Amino acid sequence: MSGPGAFLGMPSFPKNAEKELQDSQLRYNLRKATHTIRGKRAAVVGELPDWQELRAAAKAIKDETLRNLDRYLIQVEEAVTKAGGHVHWASDAAEANQIVTELVKATGQAEVVKVKSMATQEIGLNEALAGAGITAYETDLAELIVQLGDDWPSHILVPAIHRNRSEIREIFREHMAEWGRPAPENLSDDPRMLAEAARLHLRERFLATKVGISGANFVVAESGTLVVLESEGNGRMCLTLPETLISVVGIEKVLPTWRDLEVFLQLLPRSSTGERMNPYTSMWTGAVEGQEFHLVLLDNGRTKVMADEIGRQALRCIRCSACLNVCPVYERAGGHAYGSVYPGPIGAILTPQLRGMDSPLDASLPYASSLCGACYDVCPVAIDIPEVLVHLRSKAPHGPVERLGLKAAGWVLDKPVRLERAQRLATRFRGLVPKRRLPGPGAAWTDTRDVPAVPEESFRDWWDRTEGGSR
Ligand code: SF4
Repeated sequence: MSGPGAFLGMPSFPKNAEKELQDSQLRYNLRKATHTIRGKRAAVVGELPDWQELRAAAKAIKDETLRNLDRYLIQVEEAVTKAGGHVHWASDAAEANQIVTELVKATGQAEVVKVKSMATQEIGLNEALAGAGITAYETDLAELIVQLGDDWPSHILVPAIHRNRSEIREIFREHMAEWGRPAPENLSDDPRMLAEAARLHLRERFLATKVGISGANFVVAESGTLVVLESEGNGRMCLTLPETLISVVGIEKVLPTWRDLEVFLQLLPRSSTGERMNPYTSMWTGAVEGQEFHLVLLDNGRTKVMADEIGRQALRCIRCSACLNVCPVYERAGGHAYGSVYPGPIGAILTPQLRGMDSPLDASLPYASSLCGACYDVCPVAIDIPEVLVHLRSKAPHGPVERLGLKAAGWVLDKPVRLERAQRLATRFRGLVPKRRLPGPGAAWTDTRDVPAVPEESFRDWWDRTEGGSR
């Protein structure tokens, strides 16, 4: 069931969210986790007096990079090649999967270890590898929980955020043995015991597997250096132990210079885990100590997104997940309702741009928001998510109806005389206005609200008749 393939054909966001909202345990888990991370983030962000300046710098660096991405990508290719690595270009998911599958096959291996990588989830790499008889083992703890539970990730940073400790213990007890070393007999839901069980299980896997697959948080163009930030150290094992390392990286992950990392290494850990610095930051340039290294640069819709002047800011995202943790919609609906590896506010603007808005699910995502703006306030690269949501709504299949309605309202409100006539018409025909549910596109709006009653007399007429209530 895991992987984005399972997401295709899912119903629209409101239908998914309605189902998830029935799960009170899920709502409790989400609320507890998001509020904890949110509080930690606010505390460490508050320590930096120049947070807004850092944010503006990150925005400027990313925008400049995206404007000149063609040049920076060539720079990356040259630097990685010079350092003994191999660079591959993948225009879409199928091509990226094919490249990686061929590379793994060429090693003669049938198993790979993976450090958490959203790009590989986006392209459905695990499923593609499985189709070629290759088993991919997730090594990030939360990803391991998702994989063992035959589940979907529901958060960018904490993919198993929807699971609590006792659920994780059950998953370990029931499924760990199917994937390698079994869970200990006496496994409790004590976090230390759970972490130890995962550590022993994964350690065996790391020592036995000869191919590693990763993503990257950043790629430095001037040196060809890849950077991975993580908390557990599993990523570093996955990057350093295998004889062959294949990194699949979205083309928007490029930063021009080493110096630019100074900004992002302050913004990312504080925004994501609420730490001043994450425990493990791995950096490598090309082939290191005899390891064979391949970099797969993934487009998969990104150049199309870049053509949209408003929408392209979504490519500044550094996947910190701060916007998820403050979003009132995400907190209640959970990540699965978004039907993509990118849930929450960033998913609502990125997925419809990468995948298009042909399916009911993708067309509904720009509406999966209250437009409260909390996501914009916390975003470390200042993506104006509400602006992009409104922009995408105007492009959605039922956007034209909404646009027509707004145009009509604009025309009426433009001149007092038109408003007066419209109010008179509304009062005259008030009997025709449905009491509970509007027909057509307004139906969903009135599912949870009553239609406001049209008064017998408009305010203007009442004012004229009573001279402002004095008669
Ligand atoms: S949109 Fe901003 S806040 Fe949300 S994950 Fe991306 S960088 Fe973080």
